[in-house]
Amino acid sequence: MIIEIEGNRTESLQKILKLAEKHGNTIEQMQGRGPVDTLHVIGDPTGLAQHTDYLETIPGVGRVWRISSSYKNIARRVSAGQQRSVIRESRCVEIPGPDGLVRHFGGEKCLFIIGPDSVQTREQVVEAGRKIAALADKLDIRDRVMLRAGAFKPRTRPTDFRGMGFEGIELMDQVREETGLPYVSEVMDHTLVERLAEHLDCFQIGTRNAQDFKLLETIGDTGKPVILKRGFGNDAEEWFNAAEYIANRQNLNIMLCERGVKTMFCGKGYNRFTPDLNVITYAQNQTVLPVIYDPSHAAGNDSLVVPNMLSAMAFRPAALLVETIHEESFRSEQLCDAKQALAMDPLENAIKAVLDFEAHILPHLDRAQQYFVDRASAKA
Ligand code: PEP
Ligand code: MN
Repeated sequence: MIIEIEGNRTESLQKILKLAEKHGNTIEQMQGRGPVDTLHVIGDPTGLAQHTDYLETIPGVGRVWRISSSYKNIARRVSAGQQRSVIRESRCVEIPGPDGLVRHFGGEKCLFIIGPDSVQTREQVVEAGRKIAALADKLDIRDRVMLRAGAFKPRTRPTDFRGMGFEGIELMDQVREETGLPYVSEVMDHTLVERLAEHLDCFQIGTRNAQDFKLLETIGDTGKPVILKRGFGNDAEEWFNAAEYIANRQNLNIMLCERGVKTMFCGKGYNRFTPDLNVITYAQNQTVLPVIYDPSHAAGNDSLVVPNMLSAMAFRPAALLVETIHEESFRSEQLCDAKQALAMDPLENAIKAVLDFEAHILPHLDRAQQYFVDRASAKA
């Protein structure tokens, strides 16, 4: 922790020293060339950090920076005793299906989470499941595919279709049995977590609930895999700290999902949200969690979904989460996110392109990136 303070502020300095002492910290003062000095807090800053706001009210104090991360359970870099910095290994989230195959999120390969926005009818989800499973088998990627469909839908307008609830979950259970593929579905209410945990293979926390701390903790208590979407107004640190609420409950089966953020360019006719691809790399560097990308909500338009998938591939997401439509004729009946649903034909071509990208382009990227890996290790 570092505190900026004007020189010759003896009274203010005394206040800081007293508070630091109370929390078992000592302070090292570094004199600046100009009118401002910096105070370096020595020792565990957790206690003193609770008073950051207060510290900034003390006369002469400028900014107060917290240097150590508050998301210790998921952080890539942590301090451990004498070793000042330890770099932790990446984590893999494993989700088995009734077909006996385990999906490894965070392994070498990019996985695919595919399915409709929401469950609407039995026929729709059964047909979607069949087609997705057939495609997975045809492309020999069954162990890289998980289904998705929402039964509890967060909607901006309360009068819009808000999902089929548990009836939809039971339909997804049937689709899982029939296809052998595991599925993920969204949960919005912490009181439903326990009941839902008996059904789905993976929870999804949507962008609108990304900072529902009670929901995060309750899912943490289940120990089940969870996809945590980034809140569309959240910066990266807020997103990581949301994940820490889950990890704090001893559940590290978390996947972070970037899905586009709100910017001044949203709703101007060319994107629904603004994709923040750089944050995938940042999240991979700052945390040990698998990071996935949702091109569907970022694009908001099916014709933009495939370029979004391929662009994201250069950032090596652990999975791509793509909303689909099982047949074009259903689009007029789809009650949520109809515009961005990718039809099966372009989906097949997009997945083939992703597989080609993995096999033929990523090795080139590896070679190009080696320069930066070498440069970082030379600096270390
Ligand atoms: C969804 O996956 O259908 C969804 C509602 O996602 P988000 O929370 O990212 O909008
Ligand atoms: Mn959706």
